[in-house]
Amino acid sequence: MHEHALRKELVRYSHLVYERNLLVSMDGNLSVRLASGLFLCTRAGCHKGFVTEDDLVVVDRKGALVRGHGRPTSELLMHIACYEERPDVNAILHTHPPYAIAFTLADRSLERLVLPEVVLTLGTVPTIPYETTGTQALADALRPYVRTRDVVMMDRHGAVALGKDLHEAFCKLETLEHTARIVLAANSLGGVKELPADESVRLRSMGLKRYGGPPQSVAMADAPRADLPKLSFEPSDAPYPEPAALLPRVSGDEHLLGQSDAVRALARALVRDHAPLRAPARAPEA
Ligand SMILES: [Zn+2]
Repeated sequence: MHEHALRKELVRYSHLVYERNLLVSMDGNLSVRLASGLFLCTRAGCHKGFVTEDDLVVVDRKGALVRGHGRPTSELLMHIACYEERPDVNAILHTHPPYAIAFTLADRSLERLVLPEVVLTLGTVPTIPYETTGTQALADALRPYVRTRDVVMMDRHGAVALGKDLHEAFCKLETLEHTARIVLAANSLGGVKELPADESVRLRSMGLKRYGGPPQSVAMADAPRADLPKLSFEPSDAPYPEPAALLPRVSGDEHLLGQSDAVRALARALVRDHAPLRAPARAPEA
């Protein structure tokens, strides 16, 4: 695609990531690889919801400004590291999707195998350990992960999504955040059922052959676990708390001694109204 058309697309997807709540304020940055080998990207310090073509800059392979007004973002180092690792990738979106970031804050893995469509198209999403934003250390930390993954989470920070074009990268980013929301909703209803291991491997193998993915992953399509990490098949690292654990633990009203009648009535109503959300009683083990 010619630069003229890519500029219009980059503006459109910048607006879209803001409208879809995948970032706010001056967060994030988007880039595409140009046929010349240079990169077109959003400049530092611009609001993605209001980006115009004037907010786009062209940079070289070291991140130095070639054309355009404004400063290239310090987070460009991440983009360049990803392009270097993945010659098949032409577009990168870096955003701060709130639900997916919440998973990293709570130390909840996004590498669990739960939704068939996601296993098919994305595999799993690793979270890389915390590094300071805009540093070479963060860019280098991403490298090994993006060789086999199109979407990576950075602890306490945000997501990086790679695609052969902007549309593909956007779809993957959207899928990540959508999954985080679904898992959170399921968890609030009592817990998350994982896919059986053999079905996960079958789906992933099928997905890599049908939809492609990182070349290193596609090469693993027929491996015993396809490209899925071993930890996805291990017992969940941090079991999700049951909703009952979040409710006041009361047997009677002892904890309300000294409170007014109105407060006691309110507390009783709260517990009663939340009762249907409590996890079902488990049958005693034989
Ligand atoms: Zn960021």
